[in-house]
Amino acid sequence: MPDDLYERHMTAHRTLTAHRTDCSACRSQQTCPPGKRMVESFTRLQDAYLARQKNKRD
Ligand SMILES: [Zn+2]
Repeated sequence: MPDDLYERHMTAHRTLTAHRTDCSACRSQQTCPPGKRMVESFTRLQDAYLARQKNKRD
């Protein structure tokens, strides 16, 4: 079974990294509104992924 949550969290990370490379606001630590949404999306997916990893171990 493909690890969909892992893929989505990695995709969100790639999207955020690519945006930060191109966005002068985000490069100077002034996260723009689209950048902020990407950070929130990535954080949410990462939390869900890490929480699931934790549950797997227990
Ligand atoms: Zn930005």
